Amino acid sequence: MDFHYIMVAGGGVLGSQIAYQTAFHGFEVYLYDVDNEAIERAKNRIIGLKPAYQRDLKATEGQVNAAFARIQFCTDLKEAVAKADLVIEAVPEVPDIKTAFYEQLAKVAPEKTVFATNSSTLLPSQFAEATGRPSKFLALHFANSIWVHNTAEIMKHPGTDDQVFQDVIEFAKAIGMVPLPIYKEQPGYILNSLLVPFLEAAQMLWVNGVADPETIDKTWMIATGAPEGPFAILDTVGVRTAYNIASGKAKAGKQKYDQLAAKLKDMIDLGKLGRESGEGFYRY
Ligand code: NAD
Repeated sequence: MDFHYIMVAGGGVLGSQIAYQTAFHGFEVYLYDVDNEAIERAKNRIIGLKPAYQRDLKATEGQVNAAFARIQFCTDLKEAVAKADLVIEAVPEVPDIKTAFYEQLAKVAPEKTVFATNSSTLLPSQFAEATGRPSKFLALHFANSIWVHNTAEIMKHPGTDDQVFQDVIEFAKAIGMVPLPIYKEQPGYILNSLLVPFLEAAQMLWVNGVADPETIDKTWMIATGAPEGPFAILDTVGVRTAYNIASGKAKAGKQKYDQLAAKLKDMIDLGKLGRESGEGFYRY
């Protein structure tokens, strides 16, 4: 792996975390976003991360400031990518925005530059052609609060070069991540391929009146030794997200989700949004 300069595209929730984590581990980072307002928001997000690194990673003030100083902020794509060995794309989860971004990037990026998408739900093969370099493109998916939830799901599409795959695995290690190689395209990567059906099975036991959430969680926890059951996890994910998934499936004509969507909607109307509102399936 011969990566030194990293460009991060999009300084939103995840992009700002990726840029800071990368800089914290000694890489030179160019953070690209669309305009000065977006750059200001990204700067503020990153400044807001410093206390979290001091608290959670016991980083010194010198270290958090040095990391910030290694990030250059940029609204000119050509300038931002000029030295980049790797581009990590964290622009909005909207296919048209991502495609347009890759088409623009392909025109100005050096030939050597590897591109990686942080997309949560879209497959890299969908953008491979727009990148103009399918063999140097793959997914590198981080979790929110990357400095503590340090998973990096690294996923190939059918055209990704093996050496590029290995280089990105090495890079992920170098920025403090636990690399999780995924050899075939899979919507939801590993985590959501497991978590989404698991949470859904629990919710179906609840809406069908088989058992209440506490009993379902207790069963899972005692029997497997897990620290939390599915409803405690749902409170962290947020009831709104669970509702969006269930109502999406209900609207797509899958009738078994109608009742679940209605029950989750009732919770939202009562302000029971999960941990963020102090109550969901449990009180906090
Ligand atoms: P966000 O809305 O917080 O940030 C998106 C950023 O992209 C904004 O700063 C916006 O100004 C910028 N942007 C818009 N168009 C752009 C363009 N053409 N070029 C460059 N920048 C542009 O979004 P987010 O939550 O950070 O998500 C970004 C990506 O990361 C998505 O693909 C998402 O699926 C993925 N992701 C998000 C999370 C999460 O928990 N939020 C977790 C893992 C992965």
